[in-house]
Amino acid sequence: MTDTIEGGCRCGAVRYKVKADKLPNVYACHCLDCQTWSGSAFSLQLIAPEDALEVTGEPYLYERTTGEGSEARTSQQRGCATCLTRVYNTNTRRPGLAVVRAGTLDRSNELSIVAHIWARRKLQGIDIPPELPSWPEGAPPMEFAAALMR
Ligand SMILES: [Zn+2]
Ligand SMILES: [Zn+2]
Repeated sequence: MTDTIEGGCRCGAVRYKVKADKLPNVYACHCLDCQTWSGSAFSLQLIAPEDALEVTGEPYLYERTTGEGSEARTSQQRGCATCLTRVYNTNTRRPGLAVVRAGTLDRSNELSIVAHIWARRKLQGIDIPPELPSWPEGAPPMEFAAALMR
């Protein structure tokens, strides 16, 4: 059975559906970039195949390239040009994968945070349950994927 997993920006101009059998697990990233992007303590994200994401409306595209040469990567951020909610991004380093701002899901209150990355930057007052996997900085891709699939 396929669940209806939908979300969108604050004003409703950009909407999306995620094709998945259940509400995806999400992770928190406490890195400085995520704090700046979100204006919050951490970003809350889910990873979905880009082709499982069906977007309606006309999201803006903001591209930011970091690193040089073979290390260069471009983050392609998409969101609502009217209310400026950031909705999801892709990255040239991870072709085919979309990273969705999980707080934009209509059912965001039902989500479970199953992993934390960049925990060394987390704010005081945010406690990570000891049973949850967390990493001081980025997570090794295989371990991270396993944590998200729990
Ligand atoms: Zn909007
Ligand atoms: Zn981050």
